[in-house]
Amino acid sequence: MNRILISGGAGFIGANLVKLLLEWEPEWKIVVADALTYAGDKKRLEEISDNPRFSFYQVDITQKEKMREIWEREKPQGVIHLAAESHVDRSIKDPSPFILTNVLGTEVLLELSLEFGVSRFLHVSTDEVYGELKDKEGKFTEEHPLAPSSPYSASKAGGELLVKAYERTFNLPIVIVRPSNNYGPWQYPEKLIPVVIWQALHHQPVPVYGRGENWREWLYVEDCAQGIYTAFLKGREGEIYNLGSGEERQNLDTVKTILSLLGEKEDLIQFVPDRPGHDFRYSLDSQKAERELNWRAKTKFAEGIKKTVDWYIKNIKWVEEKIKEINSL
Ligand code: NAD
Repeated sequence: MNRILISGGAGFIGANLVKLLLEWEPEWKIVVADALTYAGDKKRLEEISDNPRFSFYQVDITQKEKMREIWEREKPQGVIHLAAESHVDRSIKDPSPFILTNVLGTEVLLELSLEFGVSRFLHVSTDEVYGELKDKEGKFTEEHPLAPSSPYSASKAGGELLVKAYERTFNLPIVIVRPSNNYGPWQYPEKLIPVVIWQALHHQPVPVYGRGENWREWLYVEDCAQGIYTAFLKGREGEIYNLGSGEERQNLDTVKTILSLLGEKEDLIQFVPDRPGHDFRYSLDSQKAERELNWRAKTKFAEGIKKTVDWYIKNIKWVEEKIKEINSL
């Protein structure tokens, strides 16, 4: 298998993955299909744009006929599906694009994979499909029932259930991964960590939901990309793998760490009304991925957050462009 279609390859995790695959798999051709929504950006792929083993299609995955043309031309043998509407707050304001891309778009890719045949369909889901843990104890294993809280996580659960149904009903060779919260270079500055960095760099108030007590498990994006790659290669057909780091932190603690790295005082923290339906805690049991894929997140939070802050300082112009876009909406 050496022609791989990657949906959402111009996004935060997708672009990190595309660059890793081109480096690690010299025989592979990588075909990216990405609509370049507000969250997609070809700048993330600039350094590999003239690689002859890379091609890019600006296309909406819900457009089946356009996707079929790409399939006919590129004949992918494997699919890694990341394209999604990904921001919980946006899903609360308007769930429709989430249902379209995350459910219908997934179905289009499944249908074409079935029609043309692929040896593997790797679906990138999320830990948010489990819903929340109500206290500090316990972890989600892959057997835990799905109980999504937000329109975002509900749409991701819907997409994922379709993927499972295509395996059960049509024997499509699928594997699913459920990563925890990612952070690292190139994340769109609407998510917690880049927002905090940007605000702190400008000595501006840093908004924190509620009292900042919610727990998240932070996975460095390169570790996530490696986990996706490993599950694609070695995952057992039909199986689901949690991809977590074990690096759990309360949001307030994460914010304080960033402020301290930037030499800013904690009085920049501004508590704002909590997100409706805000999940208290996610925590993954990732032993199955360790056991079966020999995958483990390598990056400690202390190291990853330093690299991330440094990257945003060096790439402040890109962030500024994105902030201008956000403010002009
Ligand atoms: P992102 O928002 O940065 O990127 C999504 C990409 O998908 C963008 O490039 C966008 O242009 C593209 N896209 C959106 N709608 C499309 C459509 N209709 N057709 C084609 N392309 C479309 O997201 P991300 O953070 O890179 O997340 C990638 C995947 O990983 C998503 O499926 C997300 O649910 C999942 N995930 C993300 C995290 C995280 O913390 N970022 C954690 C767990 C799982």
